[in-house]
Amino acid sequence: MMAIDPVCGMEVAVEPAALTSTVLVADLVNAAAPGRHVGAVDPAEPGVERFWFCGRGCMLDFGDEPSRYLDPAFTPSGM
Ligand SMILES: [Zn+2]
Repeated sequence: MMAIDPVCGMEVAVEPAALTSTVLVADLVNAAAPGRHVGAVDPAEPGVERFWFCGRGCMLDFGDEPSRYLDPAFTPSGM
């Protein structure tokens, strides 16, 4: 299974060693925006979405401004 790194747009393998981060959907200013990048939802954690990253830099950038990277208007810059 693969996921898309919302910061750079790379495909990342979903595996135990992968770098991931979660966000509270309620914290996103644009949570309901049509076309928003949506993460994986664990039924055990309603209201939380998980994202996968290619590296620590993307993960840290995402943690600073999750709403920016999940916005439908944001285009990943690539690496
Ligand atoms: Zn990345």
